[in-house]
Amino acid sequence: MTYHVLTLFPEMVRQGLGDSIIGKAIERGTITLDVVDIREYTKERHGQVDDYPYGGGAGMLMQAQPVYDAHRAVTDGRAVRTVYVTPQGQPFTQRLAREYAAEKELVFLCGHYEGIDERVLEEVVTDRVSIGDYVLSGGELAAMVMIDATARLLPGVLGNSLSAQEESFHNDLLEYPQYSRPAVWHGKKVPEVLLSGDHRKVEAWRLEQARSRTRQVRPDLYERYQNKQHLLHRLSGDKRNHIHMMESLRRGQGEILADRDGDILIYHQDSRICMMEAGSLEEPGIKGWEYLAGKIPSQAKWCLVTQESLVELLEQEGYQVFNQCSQFLYTLREPLPVGHRDIRVLTLEHLDYLCAHYGQEQRAYLEERTGSGYMYGVFVEGILRGFVGMHSEGSIGFLYVEPCCRRQGLAGSLEAYCVNRHLERGWIPYGHVVQGNEASEALQEKLGFYRAGKTFWWLEKKPCI
Ligand code: SAM
Repeated sequence: MTYHVLTLFPEMVRQGLGDSIIGKAIERGTITLDVVDIREYTKERHGQVDDYPYGGGAGMLMQAQPVYDAHRAVTDGRAVRTVYVTPQGQPFTQRLAREYAAEKELVFLCGHYEGIDERVLEEVVTDRVSIGDYVLSGGELAAMVMIDATARLLPGVLGNSLSAQEESFHNDLLEYPQYSRPAVWHGKKVPEVLLSGDHRKVEAWRLEQARSRTRQVRPDLYERYQNKQHLLHRLSGDKRNHIHMMESLRRGQGEILADRDGDILIYHQDSRICMMEAGSLEEPGIKGWEYLAGKIPSQAKWCLVTQESLVELLEQEGYQVFNQCSQFLYTLREPLPVGHRDIRVLTLEHLDYLCAHYGQEQRAYLEERTGSGYMYGVFVEGILRGFVGMHSEGSIGFLYVEPCCRRQGLAGSLEAYCVNRHLERGWIPYGHVVQGNEASEALQEKLGFYRAGKTFWWLEKKPCI
């Protein structure tokens, strides 16, 4: 990820981000920070970049020309998402941080004085975002806040990638209280349950603490959490056909964009997938369709549906069928036996192998998946011979074993290994098998997966011509 920051105070940004976790990520090259001094682009003598606002009023305004030229120098004709940090923008949230973390490049434009000439904002800015309902003297701190919050979501930035997934706002709850040594401090004891070593009890206690803290401090967030719990409860009435939606919500990645009279749209932000269901499918037409269609985010790339009538409607909205699958889920809690022992987490050094066997055109996706630590390889006599992994929306997939090593149980071992990793995290493993792939269907059943009754259509947004 490359962050370009357009500012009048470059040192402030360099110093502010040069230390700690973000500083180390810059040093390692995991992220690139390109700080651009807007003043270098002014055509005025004496380096002037501001002037009085037309119509009078207090303070000075940053002029359009230097901002425009600095922006052009950075983007060089490319369409790069450009964020103007401003108190007049939409609130910056964890959701937006996740959305930004999916970009390859971002420009942050920092205002100063009374702000920036509106005309250049109209030309270069795609997003206007605020860090809160108060006025800062400049945009640098706001840009740094957004860079910090997005960078730490990128693979390889935090030492332990799980830390970012289990913090406040994950699953619409604030985090539970935490304690470290000593066990007694100022006469206050660490809650007994945390010393018990009983993992389930600790989890239950933490959930309850997170709930009550959120209920008290952030009733708005708590209401969202409750709505999600109610929807999960309804979806669990037909778990086999809904596990993709349920896991997306349970793992804190899916957001409910529609839930009315059985019309459901869950948006999986990281993978830009709309998981949809129309509850009002009576003829003629679909009552809820307009409601649902209006909720599809413009940046969505995929739709996953189980109703043929929705497929037809989505085709009219510019989507095309990518494939037709069956959904399989593993509902047992017991881990599966893994016959083959040499299975390892793959790293970027294996990327060429993955691309050679899964498709060069998927390189960026495979790189992202490998970076997130969810690709596993099977090694025979030390040589990588096949792999499995987790797709970005959470399903198990990518299964491949080289022809020379088939019929030795390697595919079963790979998938069993992946299932066990999911179970360790409390997830319900599930996957999609393209209809007609009998070998893979047979493998799912052999491992103890259940098949959902419905057909799952994956639709991809057609590229704009
Ligand atoms: N006159 C502007 C107004 O009333 O909206 C405020 C200008 S402020 C003094 C200067 C710059 O600080 C802004 O252009 C913006 O870049 C930044 N800034 C101030 N408050 C901010 C906030 N809450 N979130 C993000 N950026 C902010």
